[in-house]
Amino acid sequence: MGLLAKLVSKFISPGSTQQPGIRVTKDAVWVYVQCDKCGEKLALRLRKSSEIQREEAGNHDYQMFINKTVMGNNCFNRMQLRLEFDGMYRVTNKWLENGSFITKEKYEDTTS
Ligand SMILES: [Zn+2]
Repeated sequence: MGLLAKLVSKFISPGSTQQPGIRVTKDAVWVYVQCDKCGEKLALRLRKSSEIQREEAGNHDYQMFINKTVMGNNCFNRMQLRLEFDGMYRVTNKWLENGSFITKEKYEDTTS
């Protein structure tokens, strides 16, 4: 019983509460998106050290955020990405204009 609890807690890391399409690693946030216009799939690696900004005002329900314009290689569609995080780098809100969030599995599935 005690061992099982240990095993379970090992697998429940902050990352396990992530939303589909967003994966948080030690130093980066991975986001998988698909262009609404041409269907191109993109994997974005956002470095925690340089791309995540801290919300200084302190009166919001998030503590960090990313605003980024994403462009693929196939067309000129600009996707506006915004992610909001709590203090543990857990995504609390996400938006993507002109594109869709997809899962890592869908990104890696080249048949679709
Ligand atoms: Zn496109």
